[in-house]
Amino acid sequence: MATSQCLHRSLPVISSQKHCNISHHKKSPDHWHELFPNAKGENQSPIELHTKDIKHDPSLQPWSVSYDGGSAKTILNNGKTCRVVFDDTYDRSMLRGGPLPGPYRLRQFHLHWGSSDDHGSEHTVDGVKYAAELHLVHWNPKYNTFKEALKQRDGIAVIGIFLKIGREKGEFQIVLDALEKIKTKGKEAPFTKFDPSCLFPACRDYWTYQGSFTTPPCEECIVWLLLKEPMTVSSDQMAKLRSLLSSAENEPPVPLVGNWRPPQPIKNRVVRASFK
Ligand SMILES: [Zn+2]
Repeated sequence: MATSQCLHRSLPVISSQKHCNISHHKKSPDHWHELFPNAKGENQSPIELHTKDIKHDPSLQPWSVSYDGGSAKTILNNGKTCRVVFDDTYDRSMLRGGPLPGPYRLRQFHLHWGSSDDHGSEHTVDGVKYAAELHLVHWNPKYNTFKEALKQRDGIAVIGIFLKIGREKGEFQIVLDALEKIKTKGKEAPFTKFDPSCLFPACRDYWTYQGSFTTPPCEECIVWLLLKEPMTVSSDQMAKLRSLLSSAENEPPVPLVGNWRPPQPIKNRVVRASFK
């Protein structure tokens, strides 16, 4: 069975649908492992964070970014999320420090959200589900290509930021306003001059652990940096995100919601905190 290429930001699409016995639920996360064995691996994401069990690691360094707003290229709706894509053909927008062995290049960011404000994040913190989760995906250029980096344990670094309901975030509105142009699946529009560090919370404290992409094929190549401090967005801003459609222009409208994977077993892994 042919499946589309699918890296974090896109769920598997069964491209040959001549057998109608492939029921809708087969595409749900419980069934991913049937087509993508990684999905039952030892290092799957997301996970539940239990803060009382997480130890401060004083060897963890602060992290920093040097993003070039000019490397932002496009925004797209792939039917599974909205994604902003960056030029990553050279060291332009970089992430350094933290638990990382070297510099990483920003490739794209995207979000996961729910059908209402009370859930939607992938990771949970002491049982709390946030309204959404922003993922900034970077890759280690020592592996030459993004595709090659996907095969390495330290190939990818993702900054995860929780979205919490509260005051409107002005900088996030820039992204939301662009959604107008990518309402339906398959749409793409120019999205330039945007430095996503404007979305970062003030505090740089983070948790880190070894994990995977949260969409098939769920490659186990990610060093996660999950920020402790959420960014705040308004309920109206969340509603705008939910106004995207997972259906194409010529199809009956289906809201794009609930694109989060539930927490996976932590197995033998340790989560570390950069802070006390
Ligand atoms: Zn993601």
